[in-house]
Amino acid sequence: MSTLRAENKICVITGAASGLGAAARDLLAGEGATVIGFDVAEPVSPDPLLFRVDVSDEHAVAAAVARVACEYGRIDVLVNNAGIPGPRKPAHEVTAEEFDRVFAVNVRGTWLCTKHVIPHMLTAGRGSIVNMSSMYGLVGNALIPAYHATKGAIRLMTKADAVTYAPHGIRVNSVHPGSIETHSPASVRADKTEKALAYNRRTLESIPLGRRGEPIDIAYGVLYLASDESRYLTGSELVIDGGYTAR
Ligand code: NAD
Repeated sequence: MSTLRAENKICVITGAASGLGAAARDLLAGEGATVIGFDVAEPVSPDPLLFRVDVSDEHAVAAAVARVACEYGRIDVLVNNAGIPGPRKPAHEVTAEEFDRVFAVNVRGTWLCTKHVIPHMLTAGRGSIVNMSSMYGLVGNALIPAYHATKGAIRLMTKADAVTYAPHGIRVNSVHPGSIETHSPASVRADKTEKALAYNRRTLESIPLGRRGEPIDIAYGVLYLASDESRYLTGSELVIDGGYTAR
């Protein structure tokens, strides 16, 4: 019997070109999955498994999902990971365009990929969808209000879809990372304004495990939810935040 945890699974991971998506892609592939990435970023070198897709564009999503289903026959796992932080300013300074853009990528993108993958999972009578929320989809903080709103929306979209599709063997769960060392939080640290430095200091002090996470810490959570090990889990929120929200 194989000991690979995701053997023969056909997985789509959005935002797979970097950060948490790339870590999940590498871990799942190492566990026997075929992983197709959707991303707006150009691959560093030609990569037949990385499709250029803007998840907020329904035509692009529909075409890419159809291509995966046609080439690989099915889609077992969808990881809705693509996301942007949006504007770093208080709610009254955020423009309508900035607000709409962060919702378009984070919320509409998650919904569009789900919408187009679900019919293939319904046909198969099984599937696992993993939605990347955040600890900031659970608790509030200063600096990025629109982002919090998107991640809270993803948390409840997850639960609604979990209930809707459970009778069809499709599980839907959310992952809630804390502060993870990818270029996103690093770019926050590159902001040397007193406000940003204080925010960074407070974040570190408020993590009981005393450090930021690494992308692999989140990838293991994604692997668990993607694999059949989590077969009795749906509508749940997997918090991987070094204890930040435990206080
Ligand atoms: P990242 O910027 O390293 O990676 C995001 C990827 O998504 C990039 O490759 C980017 O090109 C892609 N992307 C952006 N817009 C897209 C679009 N419209 N269509 C397709 N792809 C698009 O970010 P990350 O830190 O790896 O974050 C990944 C996810 O995890 C995001 O949803 C983020 O909100 C969430 N998250 C990250 C952290 C953290 O500390 N890094 C914490 C909590 C949640």
